[in-house]
Amino acid sequence: RAKAAGRGGWCFFDEEMDLELRRRRALESDLKQAVRNGEFELVFQPIVKLDQPRIACCEALLRWRHPVRGYVSPAEFVPLVEETGLIGEIGEWVLHRACAEAATWPGGIGVAVNVSPAQFKHAAVVRAVKAALAASGLPSNRLELEITESVLLTDNMATLATLHTLKRIGVRVAMDDFGTGFSSLSYLQSFPFDKIKIDQSFVRNLEVTGNARLIVRSVIGLGRSLGITTTAEGIETEAQLEQLRLEGCEEGQGYLFSRPVPSARIRELVVALGRNAA
Ligand code: C2E
Ligand code: MG
Ligand code: MG
Ligand code: MG
Repeated sequence: RAKAAGRGGWCFFDEEMDLELRRRRALESDLKQAVRNGEFELVFQPIVKLDQPRIACCEALLRWRHPVRGYVSPAEFVPLVEETGLIGEIGEWVLHRACAEAATWPGGIGVAVNVSPAQFKHAAVVRAVKAALAASGLPSNRLELEITESVLLTDNMATLATLHTLKRIGVRVAMDDFGTGFSSLSYLQSFPFDKIKIDQSFVRNLEVTGNARLIVRSVIGLGRSLGITTTAEGIETEAQLEQLRLEGCEEGQGYLFSRPVPSARIRELVVALGRNAA
């Protein structure tokens, strides 16, 4: 319709906006169907201890198998899920499935679940966690929640209260993508995180710039001083692994060890990657 007005560049822009908007609308309405049609799946990626051959836990990662578009990346649909208000429903589904799968794994392996900012703002997250633990029978110390600092930005007091409630239940809390936001450090001051996940951008640059190495070293040192476990994300090469080991990083995750896999394959990975007691 902007085209009909025929006003050069502006029309072009409007048309693009229009297309983008329509695509989003389509995805949004597809999302509502997706929950009902069971188009969501979880895959799991091992997080390994770097100083011993053992899987510490596995991160649950959401996949949407769209009937027409095929797999849609979480980077694309998670923001939509948040905006459309479906995050409560889908987030609950993720928690239930993740805990139920983890309860079937050998060796007391835990599961890490990403909790999005929008989901976290509702106090309902505590109820959802309790329900998922109760339904699966998974001990609370085998559940870890990964949150990014954008969660903390929104409503500090309420968020801190929720975090403390979760810790009282016995659930562990990890700060995801550490170093990519504005105030990671001040959040470490106000909340006792159990784990820091060093963002994969730093790991990727380990072989590229000396600065990345210095930053990684500092974060690991910081974690050690505060008694917080450090996990490096996105390890793809032996060289990166070697450096992280030398720096004393405790845990790592990345394609070098394993890509995210269906839950049924975790049992084999336990054997392949480590010696967790069965
Ligand atoms: P994240 O929590 O930081 O998850 C790590 C991402 O890095 C995953 O991408 C994983 O597949 C990818 N990855 C792991 N190892 C490597 C590696 O060696 N190289 C590279 N290049 N990538 C690696 P994925 O699965 O596409 O998820 C992207 C983001 O979407 C996640 O980042 C998380 O923020 C969000 N997400 C995924 N599942 C969920 C979910 O169930 N709920 C919520 N709220 N967010 C989710
Ligand atoms: Mg994560
Ligand atoms: Mg991350
Ligand atoms: Mg991320």
